[in-house]
Amino acid sequence: MSDKPAVDPFSKLVSDVENYIAFEDEEGRNTVEIDPKVIAELGVPPAVGTSGAVGAQEVAKAEEASAAGGPAWADVEAVAADIAACTQCALHATRTNTVPGEGNPQPEIMFVGEAPGADEDAQGRPFVGRAGKLLTKMIEAMGFQREDVFIANICKCRPPDNRKPEPAEMEACIPYLKAQISLLKPKVIVCLGGTATEGLLGLTGITKVRGNWHTFEGIDVMPTFHPSYLLRKPGAKHEVWADLQDVLKHIGRPIPSKG
Ligand code: SF4
Repeated sequence: MSDKPAVDPFSKLVSDVENYIAFEDEEGRNTVEIDPKVIAELGVPPAVGTSGAVGAQEVAKAEEASAAGGPAWADVEAVAADIAACTQCALHATRTNTVPGEGNPQPEIMFVGEAPGADEDAQGRPFVGRAGKLLTKMIEAMGFQREDVFIANICKCRPPDNRKPEPAEMEACIPYLKAQISLLKPKVIVCLGGTATEGLLGLTGITKVRGNWHTFEGIDVMPTFHPSYLLRKPGAKHEVWADLQDVLKHIGRPIPSKG
């Protein structure tokens, strides 16, 4: 029989946790990552007790303010500042820069894509790669300049290898987009591609959904194909141009003769 006193499982667990915390502290890590699924199972609001206190608090603040009928941030620059500090989802760990969005603070049209790619991640600006150049052409074909509109994404950080953002990542990030929409008050939102449409409207099947009006937080939304899809399937440009013409009609703008 051993001389060692028996250690009950609970005391051992507490001791292991203490040792783990001490080790993490020595390593300079003083926050703890908690899987959102675990938080949901515990019934704790996701903004409390997760790492990235700045993002968590700001997102909670936005949700409270939204429930009270107003935005939590004074302007889109303040939203961007909090996005820059956000660690609310796993995408923060692999980003180079956050990509909050940019453009006219009083736009008639807001374009919403899925998430930054490699070029956007490197520059901290939305739609600056090949697809972005095509989006700029689309905006110009509508009779606007890029700086006349506001361009943003559902997720403000690049998913690794340009994978589709996970539903949990879109859910974690959507308060920032909601705040931007609430502050910018665009006349219409053009939703670019299936993932953005799913993230914003909860609708799947972009081929069927595009070309029809929907609403998000009281703003009319036109889903259409993503410019990167048009790079692969140039034949779909006609459908996108039809959607964009509908947007122009909707806001009482003339339709330029050349699309
Ligand atoms: S994707 Fe959004 S929620 Fe996730 S870390 Fe970036 S800013 Fe925060």
